[in-house]
Amino acid sequence: MAFPGRMAVRNRYLLLKAKLLAHAIWTGKLSLRKVINVLVCSAAFTLRRTRSGAAPFILSLEVGNECNANCLFCRDAKGRIYDTDPKALPLGGISKGVMPFEMAADLIRQCSKDSLIAVLYTNGEPLLYKDLPRLIQACSRVRLLSMIATNGLLLNEKNITEMLSAGIDFIKVQMSGFTQDVYAVQVRFGNVERLKDNIRLLARKRDEMKCPTVLMLDFIAYSYNSHQLPDVRAFCRELGVSLNIRPGNPRGGLEGREPELSAEALPLPGGCDWPWKGLQVNFNGEVLMCCDGVTFSGSQPYAVFRPGDPVAVIWNGAKARQARATLATQGRGAIPICAQCYRKDLAFKW
Ligand code: SF4
Repeated sequence: MAFPGRMAVRNRYLLLKAKLLAHAIWTGKLSLRKVINVLVCSAAFTLRRTRSGAAPFILSLEVGNECNANCLFCRDAKGRIYDTDPKALPLGGISKGVMPFEMAADLIRQCSKDSLIAVLYTNGEPLLYKDLPRLIQACSRVRLLSMIATNGLLLNEKNITEMLSAGIDFIKVQMSGFTQDVYAVQVRFGNVERLKDNIRLLARKRDEMKCPTVLMLDFIAYSYNSHQLPDVRAFCRELGVSLNIRPGNPRGGLEGREPELSAEALPLPGGCDWPWKGLQVNFNGEVLMCCDGVTFSGSQPYAVFRPGDPVAVIWNGAKARQARATLATQGRGAIPICAQCYRKDLAFKW
């Protein structure tokens, strides 16, 4: 079976974007001011201006980088996160921590009028963040869309009810196999029957509570699990959950057995719109160009954010403008993290 991806056909998530747009309109979370900010950020990127809109239209927060699943491509069996900086050792360079609630809440508050969505996870499992429902509530209170992606293994009646009640807009759950033998190839600590039960519960609670939350199962496709796609499709159809299929990363033990994510030569030509449209904040307050920065130990933060610091000043500050100018005039090869990056634009990675 051929997979979408391997960069030949990029997953643009068009259907998902259409659903989220309709959802934002329906829930009153889209304003003229936000639309104008999207247009200004996009125009600034197209014209390669170093000053962007009033705020990033995607605010991405690493609320914590611990995880309960320890997937092969992400971290080793001891939970040490792979450092993607080729100058660093592969293990041990990425420290772990949790973002203080006050920091996350202040970032959300400051961006709420102009930003479209807060992404409440980056590399870690967001259900391990004890203040997640409060954070979703903080987004809902200021009419900012919120989303998480989760491995789904920790979903239960309590946290599902809390998240749905708080008004979460989009939940994406990963799956890389429909039977335990296949699922366990990639996920070190997880039971797929538990995962399926949890997804059933999530869909049932959404229906019972009449929540408009968009649910999506994200099937991470490898050649070893492709034969299970028909079962996954039927599972999603039965539950009324959207299905997305994306290529899996062979790093961590599947190299040579699975195709590389991309055969394109690096650095990629052309620009990247992340620095004009999105902002990443790590758990420790480091403000980064994009979400890949949280696993790249040589990242050069724009600033270290503390509650009360003006986000708008950082967003269009000297370091952010310098990064945009470098990308625009010298290309990706001039910035180490961009030189080894396969992303094409602001979207889910694959
Ligand atoms: S090229 Fe890659 S690393 Fe650089 S800003 Fe874009 S997404 Fe981030």
